[in-house]
Amino acid sequence: MTNMAQEDERNAAIRKMTELLRAGATMLAETCPICNAPLFRLPSGEVLCPIHGRVFIAKSEEEVAEASVISTLSELEKTACSALIQLINAVKRNEMGLDEAARIAVYWLDAIERAERIKDMIRLRKAMGQERKR
Ligand SMILES: [Zn+2]
Repeated sequence: MTNMAQEDERNAAIRKMTELLRAGATMLAETCPICNAPLFRLPSGEVLCPIHGRVFIAKSEEEVAEASVISTLSELEKTACSALIQLINAVKRNEMGLDEAARIAVYWLDAIERAERIKDMIRLRKAMGQERKR
């Protein structure tokens, strides 16, 4: 990433933080587990990162870790999906043979499948934990 892009990103983050504060949000002591930006709590009670915009309703260390794993896996899945699209396009443009594309696609599909399985495991564990607390 160039310095210019980083600068833009930082400015965008600061703008977003200002918007959140204007909207009545409060800055929290907790930081985003991905980018370390301070998290904000909206008047509605939702917690979000000014950069990722994702809601982390993380109450414990464990929940922060789980939220971080889930968003990393989601990021991986997004990357895998765009890699698959690129493969399809390469085949369409005759830049790559179908055999080669299929061989690479298997790795990405495998990554998506594993990511989904891990996310399911985390969700299941969470559901079971909530069951116990009741
Ligand atoms: Zn973030």
